[in-house]
Amino acid sequence: MGLEKSEAILLRSVAWSETSLVVTLFTRTHGKVSAVAKGARRLKSPFENALDLLARSQIVFIEKANDTLDILTEAKLVRRFKGGQRSLLTLYSGYYLAELTHVLTENHQPMESHFGVLDEALVKLDEMEDPAKVVLGFEMEFLRSLGHLPTFELCAGCGNSVESGRNRSYLFGIDAGGVLCDSCLAGQHHVLRLREETISFLRLVAADRGSWMERAGSYGDLSPTTRGEVRFAMERFITHLADRRLRLMDFLEELKR
Ligand SMILES: [Zn+2]
Repeated sequence: MGLEKSEAILLRSVAWSETSLVVTLFTRTHGKVSAVAKGARRLKSPFENALDLLARSQIVFIEKANDTLDILTEAKLVRRFKGGQRSLLTLYSGYYLAELTHVLTENHQPMESHFGVLDEALVKLDEMEDPAKVVLGFEMEFLRSLGHLPTFELCAGCGNSVESGRNRSYLFGIDAGGVLCDSCLAGQHHVLRLREETISFLRLVAADRGSWMERAGSYGDLSPTTRGEVRFAMERFITHLADRRLRLMDFLEELKR
């Protein structure tokens, strides 16, 4: 238990009492932190506008042991998320990145690289980058840092390379976590048939070279069918990983077109 300082991005906040909030922040040094922000709902909040959703701020908090909520003592705004002024799709994309981060991380598990990716993604959305590219690039980098990056080249069952099969398509195992060869298909549930173009593009985005935003760069050149399949595959995979469909997925249907 001690006084900690970090940069943080606000993922969510819920009313705790008439005057206080419980906030969930993703910090650079301590991973996800859930803390009580006393007085945050007062007209003259000590945190001013540092607790707006997706705002980046410099915080001071008291870390508590076990499952007790931490206590936020200071938050100074560094940058607001202005995506809502761009478009609703940009706003919902930002909220989706926050929900995804919240759902797939545990409190107090440091993931400094993820803080950087989240921060960069929000800046890109603010700069009016195509939300479809930002969302996909972010998902892939996040899955990589969680150790859950799907395989798009080698069979998720046996590790052999997989050729496209019937009608130039691939079988993608949601439970298995990647493409499957014919011999490994038996007994697999939740298998999607994806077109070669979809798998080739996902392979490119998942590759470990260059910047994650650049790798997702050609999303806009894909056919609408492929865009739809890419989103469908990512949603199914993430839903399986999170054990439930994320609320914001319903607001991102436009990314499939
Ligand atoms: Zn196999």
